[in-house]
Amino acid sequence: MNRCGMLWVMVLLLFSPAAFAADIWKDAPFEPTDVAMELLRLSEHCYYVQGQAGTATDNQGFIANAGVVITDEGVVVFDALGSPSLAWLLLSKIRALTDKPIVKVVTSHYHADHIYGLQVFKAEGAEIIAPAGALDYLADETAESRLQERRESLFPWVNDDTRLITPDQLITTQQRFQLGGVRFVVRLVGSTHSTGDQIMQVLDDGVLFSGDLIFQGRIPLVAGSHPQAWLEGLQSLRTDDLKVLVPGHGPASRKPAKAIEFTRDYLRYLHQGMAEAVENLTPFEEAYAAVDWSAYEHLPAFIANRLNAYYVYLGLEAKSMAD
Ligand SMILES: [Zn+2]
Repeated sequence: MNRCGMLWVMVLLLFSPAAFAADIWKDAPFEPTDVAMELLRLSEHCYYVQGQAGTATDNQGFIANAGVVITDEGVVVFDALGSPSLAWLLLSKIRALTDKPIVKVVTSHYHADHIYGLQVFKAEGAEIIAPAGALDYLADETAESRLQERRESLFPWVNDDTRLITPDQLITTQQRFQLGGVRFVVRLVGSTHSTGDQIMQVLDDGVLFSGDLIFQGRIPLVAGSHPQAWLEGLQSLRTDDLKVLVPGHGPASRKPAKAIEFTRDYLRYLHQGMAEAVENLTPFEEAYAAVDWSAYEHLPAFIANRLNAYYVYLGLEAKSMAD
């Protein structure tokens, strides 16, 4: 090979994805993670990474999605993933496309798998925008006990340096903003899947980031939610002008109306199965065994189904006592 050829090989090696991947951890303040993460393009400005189906500690905690919107003036990130290491990896993927500042991180809701990476973007100077209700999560002792638990179950990626980040701004109804000529709407849906859930629509691209209002391809996490309000929140989603819907978990969908169906039908099915049992004073074990779960039992995270059903059962029972 002549000198020119050698030079090209060296240049190619230097800028190959492998060299870049190794380099991002060289001076990183976080533990390296080797999960497969690809920043997929959805539209002119929108991208997302898709977490793998699984329970909270599978795949080094990479189970939730995150969105990225790149404009001429800066970047908006939607959700920050389940560890600082994952967020660092996401940041490196963004940096491979643009050197514009990370201006905002809009969090869909405060659950560990969506917020433990926030400190990475906070250090970049991003404003953290959370739904009303996020402070309730932070004030509750389970936020701290969850973090302690994850420092063990997701060690070393979640460790003593992992911090819960208080938002800079809370959304109580709706907020519109523009960045680089791209129009955004962030809307509070309410206390539905969690203590507070919000969605973000990128109007010019017809892309909706729904957070955990919508799960695709796995059993939704219902324990701790407000199932009835969640169903109403799903009804409030308008899909007419949408081209793409990005759920909190699972693949993005180019059939937004269809994407809403799975979570909606599951919530309805849980409610239906348990409501009858509560009305007839059937004990939970018996009620659970009597329901045909065959439409769901093949799905990832089906292990959560029993707890979901029990949670709905208890909620309906408490309600029937109060009525
Ligand atoms: Zn969640």
